[in-house]
Amino acid sequence: MESIDARGSCLIAGGGLAGLTAALSLAPRPVVLLTKAPLGAEAASALAQGGIAAAIGADDSIGLHLADTLGAGDGLCDEKAARAILALAPSAVEDLARRGVAFDCDAQGRPMLGLEAAHSRRRIVHGGGDSTGREIMRALACLVRQTPSITLLEGAEALQILAENNRVLGVYARTSHGQVIFETSCVIIATGGIGGLFQHSTNPPGSWGQGLALAAKAGAKMADLEFIQFHPTALDGASFPLKLVSETVRGEGAILVDDTGSRFMADIPGAELAPRDIVARAAWRQMAAGRRIYLDARRLAGKFARRFPAIAGFCRSEGIDPAKQLIPVRPAAHYHMGGIAVDLWGRSSIEGLWACGEAASTGLHGANRLASNSLLEAAVCGRLVADSINGLAQNFPRKRQPARDQVLIASDPAPAQKILSPAAGVLRDGDGLEAAAAELLPLAQQEGRARDPALVALMIVAAALRRQESRGAHFRTDFPQAAEHGRRSYLYLEEAIAAAREITLAPAA
Ligand SMILES: Cc1cc2nc3c(=O)[nH]c(=O)nc-3n(C[C@H](O)[C@H](O)[C@H](O)COP(=O)(O)OP(=O)(O)OC[C@H]3O[C@@H](n4cnc5c(N)ncnc54)[C@H](O)[C@@H]3O)c2cc1C
Repeated sequence: MESIDARGSCLIAGGGLAGLTAALSLAPRPVVLLTKAPLGAEAASALAQGGIAAAIGADDSIGLHLADTLGAGDGLCDEKAARAILALAPSAVEDLARRGVAFDCDAQGRPMLGLEAAHSRRRIVHGGGDSTGREIMRALACLVRQTPSITLLEGAEALQILAENNRVLGVYARTSHGQVIFETSCVIIATGGIGGLFQHSTNPPGSWGQGLALAAKAGAKMADLEFIQFHPTALDGASFPLKLVSETVRGEGAILVDDTGSRFMADIPGAELAPRDIVARAAWRQMAAGRRIYLDARRLAGKFARRFPAIAGFCRSEGIDPAKQLIPVRPAAHYHMGGIAVDLWGRSSIEGLWACGEAASTGLHGANRLASNSLLEAAVCGRLVADSINGLAQNFPRKRQPARDQVLIASDPAPAQKILSPAAGVLRDGDGLEAAAAELLPLAQQEGRARDPALVALMIVAAALRRQESRGAHFRTDFPQAAEHGRRSYLYLEEAIAAAREITLAPAA
């Protein structure tokens, strides 16, 4: 296996908003940027519709944004981290505009602000109507390609982190030139979320938590893994990933109805704009009772196609005209609040390993993410990671590691998906989670394409089993109440494996 001396460079795995922001903010420090797919493809960032939350309206403040974030986080946000990240949101939006992102503006040139669920103010900055992510990725990808300090390797996949004594020494990767080892002691994981571990998801299929597997196998601590947000209104159509009918459609007045025409959110506080977990559970219960659910946006007929051109387009391609017809929707795995445990600067528990974006868990989101706080986190924390690394000595001297010949194979999340989806969905219980842990353990322990996705699924299941309460996006039907004091959860891979072994060894009841 070829060994590449990248000791003066920082290696970034992931070319979404978090990875690109880190790469640009590190310039002129040399960066090797690996993206599994061509830049912009297979990144959740490119799919984002709603926009970025930032307290920039005249009636808004960081304090109000923080209060809404803490409310959605259901007692589990790290308030200090949340305050610091939200305070940097307005400047992150300015940075993006400076980097060429064209946000939608009013006649006076001020950003137009949208409203989303559980936000007390209009504070969602958007671009291209409902194509915010595409617009952001267009501008940043263009800049990355023009930045001489960034070596961009598209179609290159980080497969394993080489670490010893809790220090990063390099990364095994598959590139268009075959498998190589990048020798570096500075690695940033920005590989996105875990929706690809579920059968119904809005995430790109490649988003199955590969960065979590890489970090956990190297010994890194994970946080809040049990908290997965299910978006209540994915288009219940034929495409994979499922297309998202953004919250902003409900923000503009669309309502949820079942197949009898009954508005099932009418009596729930916040109605259609209640926090996502509440809407998702209400929708899930309707479906469990045999109903289909729909979004009724017909009252927006006059402006729907103009305000939501992308949604109108994919509805049309499924034969639905939102101006005249109901849009069939269902809950789908959408966002992971948990991830690699990091501090505000993105530092993980391993020296030389940083993480940012959806792969990281900073404590901003707590038990549930406030809509549009994730692009914001990716943009702010990509920059904070770069600040942290820029504060270090210019080079990362390490002894050269001998190349090890090791054949690493591509992963297949399908076997883990079948086990995780029914067990760790919108509603969970101990029996289902234990059965899933027992089924995942052999997959997670044997060499093969299923192993790494099974490892991530197993850690999620172990974290969900440990949390014997219902809070935010984690709902246990056997523990439906919230515990008196909520605490963030932390987990190492070894602990998840030990818990699963215990389950398999326990005598049957
Ligand atoms: C449909 C949809 C709509 C959304 N809408 C919004 C919204 O309006 N507002 C908001 O705030 N959030 C939204 N989100 C969430 C938000 O888009 C994501 O949380 C955010 O974009 C994550 O950015 P990221 O850079 O961490 O990951 P991503 O953008 O997912 O990028 C991850 C990158 O890592 C690469 N990668 C993965 N594994 C490897 C590997 N092993 N080696 C190399 N590269 C790898 C992938 O190819 C990809 O380039 C939405 C999400 C979805 C799915």
